[in-house]
Amino acid sequence: MEHQPRTAVRLTDESEIYARVTSYEAAAIVRTERAGRLTVRPIYLDHHATTPVDPRVADLVYRVMTEAFGNPNSADHAFGGEASRLLRSAASQVGSLVGALSEDVHFTTGSTEAIAVAVACALSSCKGRPLRVAASRIEHAAVLDVLALAASNGEIVVTWIEVDEAARISLAALRAALTASPDLVCVMAANNEVGTIQPVADLTRLAHAAGAEVLVDATQAAGRLPIEARNWGVDYLVLSSHKLYGPKGAGALVSPRASEAPKPPLFEGRRGTPNTPGLAGFGEACRIRASEMEADETRIAGLRDRLEATLTSLVPDTVVNGDRDNRLAGNLHISARGAPNDMVVAHLRETVAISTGAACASGADAPSHVLRAMDLEHWRQDTALRIGLGRFNTADEIDFAASAIADAIRNVRAF
Ligand code: PLP
Repeated sequence: MEHQPRTAVRLTDESEIYARVTSYEAAAIVRTERAGRLTVRPIYLDHHATTPVDPRVADLVYRVMTEAFGNPNSADHAFGGEASRLLRSAASQVGSLVGALSEDVHFTTGSTEAIAVAVACALSSCKGRPLRVAASRIEHAAVLDVLALAASNGEIVVTWIEVDEAARISLAALRAALTASPDLVCVMAANNEVGTIQPVADLTRLAHAAGAEVLVDATQAAGRLPIEARNWGVDYLVLSSHKLYGPKGAGALVSPRASEAPKPPLFEGRRGTPNTPGLAGFGEACRIRASEMEADETRIAGLRDRLEATLTSLVPDTVVNGDRDNRLAGNLHISARGAPNDMVVAHLRETVAISTGAACASGADAPSHVLRAMDLEHWRQDTALRIGLGRFNTADEIDFAASAIADAIRNVRAF
């Protein structure tokens, strides 16, 4: 977008509400010299939806696209061999990040596909009766949709695992769901809205003792928290490149069983050409996360705490949702009484990119299933703001964002 001085921000099409441009808005403008032009961009605080690609990863993707462009399935010459080596190295980098063997890493286009393959695997081992699944109520739509479809076909029956008001899955809640003798337990490692981190190792141990396999959606956790898939005994673990500063369209199912997943009949035995640049970029992103995650996440948590402290002091009547003692470093989920979240987010559109909830639910009017499962009061659901910090955010950005968000809440309340 070209930089033009603005005097007003339109909030919605219907209402002719205009907010005066304030100093923070001017300060939020990022000036990038590109072909002699200035680019205007809001501060990006929606890292649960996706992350910017690390420039080191982008460099590698570019080099693979332009230099190592061979087809990894063409084993007859050096080009194919080089591409195939890149994929093997990416599998090893992904495996290292989540504590798994490279041979257990099965590439996909992202977590949504990986989850579908995992459920297909579990279904294939259950003959003559529906698969019994126990799933937490706060799973991502990528899990819920697959389960809903299979349930509507009569292929599975689902028992729900309840969460508490901070979106925690307790061992007692899992124990209650295990009375239905599930074949498969689905729990996420960290929630994509309120950031609550789950005790995956303990949950897996308990589920295994009851004879169930475990599917862990680690999409938000991978690259942000230490994961030991093999030591924890997780049967299926999924992760996605674009959540950890890698390119979009790449992800993995990590499982000793994934190669058993049934393929659609037309594709039986046929391997398409893999997305070598994207997968090599995914591997590189995992390599960087493995070495930089700890320091980055400590710094990000500091910025998040600073944002939380400023916002809650500037704006009365706000509450923090989720588990404040055990959440993703970059997660800040708040509710501001009297300020409907869609209006606040619209107000911030030009200055700070935050969201009302999951990217897949954006634009939806229905309250978030996560906040409902937490049984939050209605006003907290209606005013919930998801703020997601990442490794490229600076302290200056966070300070501007704090006053911009506070101003937006105040303006919406005044309206
Ligand atoms: N699971 C969780 C927890 C997510 O946050 C997302 C994406 O937002 C997904 C699954 C789907 O991931 P992908 O975009 O890689 O398909």
